[in-house]
Amino acid sequence: MGSISPSPPLHIAIVGAGIGGLALAIGLLRQGVPYTLYEAAGAYSAVGAGVGLGPNALAAMDAIDARFRALYNQISTGNVTPGKDHVMMDAMLLEDGFGEKRGWKPAPYGAPCYDRTSAHRVDLLNVMTSLIPISTVKFNKRVKTVDQKAEGGAKVTITFEDGEVVEASAVIGCDGAKGATRQMVLGEKYPDQVRATYSGKYVYRSIVPMEDAVKILGKDALGDEIAGDAKMFIGKGANVTTFPISKGTQCNMVAFKLDDKPWTYPEWTQPVTREEMVNDFEELGVDKRLIKMLDWAKPLRWSIHHHLTTPVYYNGLICLLGDSAHATTPHQAAGAGQCLEDALILSRLLGLVSAPDRDQLEAAFKVYDEIRRPRAQKVVQTSKQAGLVYTLSAPGIGDDLDAIVKDLNHRFLWIWEHDLMADVDRAEKEFKALTRKEPETMNMKRVSASVVEKTALTA
Ligand SMILES: Cc1cc2nc3c(=O)[nH]c(=O)nc-3n(C[C@H](O)[C@H](O)[C@H](O)COP(=O)(O)OP(=O)(O)OC[C@H]3O[C@@H](n4cnc5c(N)ncnc54)[C@H](O)[C@@H]3O)c2cc1C
Repeated sequence: MGSISPSPPLHIAIVGAGIGGLALAIGLLRQGVPYTLYEAAGAYSAVGAGVGLGPNALAAMDAIDARFRALYNQISTGNVTPGKDHVMMDAMLLEDGFGEKRGWKPAPYGAPCYDRTSAHRVDLLNVMTSLIPISTVKFNKRVKTVDQKAEGGAKVTITFEDGEVVEASAVIGCDGAKGATRQMVLGEKYPDQVRATYSGKYVYRSIVPMEDAVKILGKDALGDEIAGDAKMFIGKGANVTTFPISKGTQCNMVAFKLDDKPWTYPEWTQPVTREEMVNDFEELGVDKRLIKMLDWAKPLRWSIHHHLTTPVYYNGLICLLGDSAHATTPHQAAGAGQCLEDALILSRLLGLVSAPDRDQLEAAFKVYDEIRRPRAQKVVQTSKQAGLVYTLSAPGIGDDLDAIVKDLNHRFLWIWEHDLMADVDRAEKEFKALTRKEPETMNMKRVSASVVEKTALTA
């Protein structure tokens, strides 16, 4: 006699252990949703140096798991100068003298709702991984393919580059801007949308010991240490940001260079000579103090790619989260924050899925897509505009410094002031509406009502 094998329990495969994948893992743990996190690298790692987070990102952390926010508070760093808690950055000029020779003083921008915080990425990684049982993470697991049937139960088959094959109820692709899952979601219907596009900017990054940064950058026209507070140096052809991390013991610098040529190097990081790196900024007349800060940078150009548009974030049982969905230029310091918002909404939705049921999972992804995609893609688009503002080339603003500061004081508000808990409520309501099963008795009433109707019509 044959027996019916029970369908496997709900189990989510997370692909990629960056900020997005880790945040989702923390959220799923909190919601009691079983998952396995598959990471291509041999260990956790953080690419880059500092990361700044806005109030929306901090609120998302809090709502994902209050311990996450509490731990972040222990490692985050603000501005040093008293009274600058709500200043995101001071706008200064890249040119020789930082604009002071023509009377420019550092112009703060921010908002009362904004608290300046940033962190070393390694510290953030340590905080996040401390909340995740290592038994739920598999390293050296590069996903190669994901197969799903168009119909039937909630089952995907994942094949890794090492040949291993596993099954899960659904896959969440948190594998970054050039991750493989984007092709799986968009490849068939939107092949032109799979590859990230070059933003026309590359960066050099350095972490400078604060002692050295203080000596090099000196004081501003107001008498404050330049390195102690977050700064955005703006100018034609380039912009440079510096901000304190690691409890003020280090100064993080990201130097952006405009590039009017296509990115043709096969990798997204291109080694150059130290002379080429320095020349990128000397040719623009950048103040020598910032060029000195490049002594701590590797002569490596990091191309900045983005997904300006993404027509949909899921395909059946495969769903995108983080940079795989909406990689952005970092001009609004908002990419990681959007990963956290994604993780909050998706973990709450998956927490409502009561069984490994295709309809429920697809309903969760549909609601996630409807709520998250418009906002995250707007972040990508407006970040591109912010990049133009920093290089004095935004339409209608150009090099009008007062207009630039006015713009910077307003452009982030819609990101920071967003009501995330309203998104959570909306997600829950929409998911419940989509998955509500008509009670049997209700169906019976409908049937008998239509029978009565028909009978009445024929009578
Ligand atoms: C210069 C710069 C500065 C930035 N500054 C800020 C900032 O101040 N504030 C802010 O909010 N955001 C900032 N961002 C954006 C932010 O860093 C990103 O949005 C965020 O780190 C993306 O995280 P992620 O998890 O989506 O992707 P990633 O960090 O790219 O992680 C993807 C992970 O997936 C793994 N992976 C890839 N392919 C596979 C596969 N096939 N199988 C298994 N695993 C795979 C990778 O190894 C990696 O671990 C900045 C970005 C840049 C470039």
